[in-house]
Amino acid sequence: MSWGMIGLSSVTDVFSDMLKANRVPHGLLLCGPEGSGRASLALSLAQALNCHSPEPDFSPCRKCGPCVRISQELFPDVMTLEPKGRGDVIPIDDVRKLIDVLNYSPVEGRYKVAIIKKADRFRQEGGGALLKTLEEPVENTVLIMTAQSESGVMDTLVSRCVRLRVPTLTRKQIIEALHEKGLDQMTSRLLAGLSDGALGAALSVDPAYAMELWSALDGILGQHGTKNALKSALDWVRSFVDAIEKNKTKTESDRDKSDFVLDCLRLWWRDVFVLAATKDAGRMAGPPPTPSQRRWADQIAADDVARIEALNAGLQDGLSRAMRLELLFVNYWLNVLK
Ligand SMILES: [Zn+2]
Repeated sequence: MSWGMIGLSSVTDVFSDMLKANRVPHGLLLCGPEGSGRASLALSLAQALNCHSPEPDFSPCRKCGPCVRISQELFPDVMTLEPKGRGDVIPIDDVRKLIDVLNYSPVEGRYKVAIIKKADRFRQEGGGALLKTLEEPVENTVLIMTAQSESGVMDTLVSRCVRLRVPTLTRKQIIEALHEKGLDQMTSRLLAGLSDGALGAALSVDPAYAMELWSALDGILGQHGTKNALKSALDWVRSFVDAIEKNKTKTESDRDKSDFVLDCLRLWWRDVFVLAATKDAGRMAGPPPTPSQRRWADQIAADDVARIEALNAGLQDGLSRAMRLELLFVNYWLNVLK
């Protein structure tokens, strides 16, 4: 066993060096896109700091008491703090509680570790409170913060941390990783295309749902110019909206579902535009071209590209403003298929 994280050795090598030299900084900031592995890296480091029998490269064994309990969030010396919902900030009271706990020595482990996810969601007050902990750290405490990018985190916090960038993976690396997990070539290519180089993002998607949605959208777009096109589109909208409304409460995952449709549409069109411009299917980011994508690529005019990009942008805007889904999607299809 080693750190076992595909494509992230630029970060885990640094972890190994820090642990080997017994010089783990008090503050660490891991930046990378959603799903790139920031949280797994933070957790692995917390395990490594408290592991009873680390591997030769200083990665955690993942089998000893502390390793297991840390992964189950049951270890008293490792705490995680994160904003509750989308768009929420980290509450100041939670930050104060965390700081209190950090002021005491570890109870069971060698290190007290605080993991703060989405450190770009601090208000001034919360960040300021934390600053003191970084300026006057208690021995054997490590604060690991994660964020999408440094620019969203308070400057004063950033400057007191060792910063590590979590790299995105190449499309090929992601396809291989998904393949190893038993997904077929077609699904792997679809999820890789949708993942923006973040393996965690690819793994968080239900593969069967993704393929089903992809085929449904492809089916509608493939009927462009026929009498049935609009009917198929409206049928799809109805069943999509029904499925969401059955859930009644407007939860985060409903919105995620709509965002996912947009992501699929964007990928589908991106590949059509690439195919039209290059005639090279090898340059496509998603699955191999479908007959509908080929037909669109053969016929699409420059005006259409601009028009469709604008429609996709309009859909994104509508979703972000929580406009009525039915209206948004019906409007989208009416315009795309006209
Ligand atoms: Zn262990």
